[in-house]
Amino acid sequence: MPIFEYSCSGCGDQFELLVLAATVLACPKCQSGQIERLISVPAVKSASTHALAMKAAKSRDKRQASDLNRGQREYELHHND
Ligand SMILES: [Zn+2]
Repeated sequence: MPIFEYSCSGCGDQFELLVLAATVLACPKCQSGQIERLISVPAVKSASTHALAMKAAKSRDKRQASDLNRGQREYELHHND
């Protein structure tokens, strides 16, 4: 589920939003549209957030691993010349 953490520029509140195509992004407290998505999750508040963070970390690790493999392959190709 696309749950993201946001910080409101209007009242400074931080909250999680389930963002779907039809979701209007606004602060639940002051209804301000001036909200910013937080890149890092400062604290694990719920099991769903935790699972999401774990999933993100896993896919990031996988991406890094494939980058590493590609780099190694390119090195070997070059090395054989
Ligand atoms: Zn607000």
